[in-house]
Amino acid sequence: MVLPIDNPVKSFWIEGADSHLRNHRSTPDLPDVVDVVIVGSGYTGATMAYWLDKFSAEGSTPSMVILEARDICGGATGRNGGQLRPHYYSRYPLWASRFGSDGALKVIKHEAAHLAAFKALLEAEGLAEEVSFKLGETFDAAMSEEAWARLKGAYEDMKKDIGEKGDIIKDCRLIEDPNEAERFTQMKGCIAAVVHPSGQVWPYKFVHALLQLLLKTGQVNLQANTPALSVSQQDADGLITVDTPRGKIKAKTVIHATNRWASHLLPEFGNLIYAGRGTLAAIKAPQGFLKNTGAQHWDSIINNYHLQLPPPHNTIIVGGAKPLTVHDPKQYVNNDREDEQFRGVPDFYAGWPKRDVVGWTGRDPAELERSVEEGGVWSGVYSTSIDSFPFVGPVPKNKGHFVAAGFAGHGMPRILGSTAHLAPLVLADLGVKSNTPSTATIFPPLPEPFQATEERIQRLQSVDALAKFQKEIDEGLVSSKKPFAGPAPQILLD
Ligand SMILES: Cc1cc2nc3c(=O)[nH]c(=O)nc-3n(C[C@H](O)[C@H](O)[C@H](O)COP(=O)(O)OP(=O)(O)OC[C@H]3O[C@@H](n4cnc5c(N)ncnc54)[C@H](O)[C@@H]3O)c2cc1C
Repeated sequence: MVLPIDNPVKSFWIEGADSHLRNHRSTPDLPDVVDVVIVGSGYTGATMAYWLDKFSAEGSTPSMVILEARDICGGATGRNGGQLRPHYYSRYPLWASRFGSDGALKVIKHEAAHLAAFKALLEAEGLAEEVSFKLGETFDAAMSEEAWARLKGAYEDMKKDIGEKGDIIKDCRLIEDPNEAERFTQMKGCIAAVVHPSGQVWPYKFVHALLQLLLKTGQVNLQANTPALSVSQQDADGLITVDTPRGKIKAKTVIHATNRWASHLLPEFGNLIYAGRGTLAAIKAPQGFLKNTGAQHWDSIINNYHLQLPPPHNTIIVGGAKPLTVHDPKQYVNNDREDEQFRGVPDFYAGWPKRDVVGWTGRDPAELERSVEEGGVWSGVYSTSIDSFPFVGPVPKNKGHFVAAGFAGHGMPRILGSTAHLAPLVLADLGVKSNTPSTATIFPPLPEPFQATEERIQRLQSVDALAKFQKEIDEGLVSSKKPFAGPAPQILLD
């Protein structure tokens, strides 16, 4: 059984938003029969419902119920880093080695399209300000020669393959002068950096704002604190039974937007999607202090990442804390403990601005937006996929079931395009006429590595997940012994 635990620590995004939809139940009882049940009310579930409405021909939006085990958007989307940060270049060598140069570029372009698509969608719906959306530049700051060799190497590999004028590479630039790198990134000790376009958003508010719009259509019934316990196959009447503690619903279609927890209802994903745990903090900061979003890299494992919210919030969201947690990788590898903080992180974050940011003018130790217990520091479970890519599409051999899950710690620039791909497939299955909305045309086709094909799902059953976890733990421990990691803090030795 992998259902979300019901007592996760509080997160700034959720507590700070104070949404009236938090525990929303559209009706006191669940409907008996609907067209579509969407399981999960995070970014995937909400955008799935949004696209089903937008793609449907006038007056033909299917009836939908969204079931959420926790409060609305209480999973990863309510607990993440807020970075809408496409992998413009850094994964190119890895992906090119697996899918060839063209295959790698297809994934990168799909991610990059999310910037324009978010902008278009939020402008069309008049939500950009409400959800603290911002486009800008982001940087990968090299904090060591090892990091710079990797980051610059990735950039050079891509440039070599696609040429100076490739439309993605020309959006990236190197800063090789250490003084300029430190000035641009504002990260103390940064020796060089790669810069590229990026975005940021308050993810929980984004989801709640979309759901608010959808509730007005009258076609969406939203049900908080209602886990789907089991699902059947389609019966002879073409209906699937979804069982919950509050009764059963019959639906023509079930969409699994269940992230790390997908295998509870679809056991074939048990070896394919599992937990990883991250940590973040929300720090009070002077307005406009951090000019860009970014990440610090010491090697491929030890990093931090951050953004600053636009006014009136001005909060810095900083995450990672890997210089600390790498000394105890079991805290983040295959770990579901969202009910616990990582050991030692509140002190780590309190010292981060003065220690790591040039010219910090805020308090030292940093002042949290809320107390640790009330969401100032939090942990969150993201899904890790066994082959590092999400699973999107009709569930093989299970008619009427669709899945979009396993987006890992990098769902923001992947999900909107994935659900836009899925919506017309679902409508075709339901026999509903669909038209492509202009916002959805921004996305290139769904990258092949995302497709939930029968061959992929079968092949991945035999990968040794336990060996993979152990490898991640071992790699963390190797990193923890590098000079820039420093000695293990006492709190992790106790
Ligand atoms: C600490 C952390 C930091 C991150 N930072 C970033 C970042 O900066 N940028 C980025 O791109 N990505 C980031 N991510 C990843 C990103 O948050 C996810 O990829 C994305 O939010 C996934 O959205 P989702 O809707 O698929 O999953 P979720 O938001 O987890 O939604 C799934 C929902 O399904 C519900 N559910 C599950 N099973 C059932 C069931 N049986 N019945 C009913 N409901 C169920 C869950 O309660 C949950 O609310 C981060 C994740 C974490 C945890």
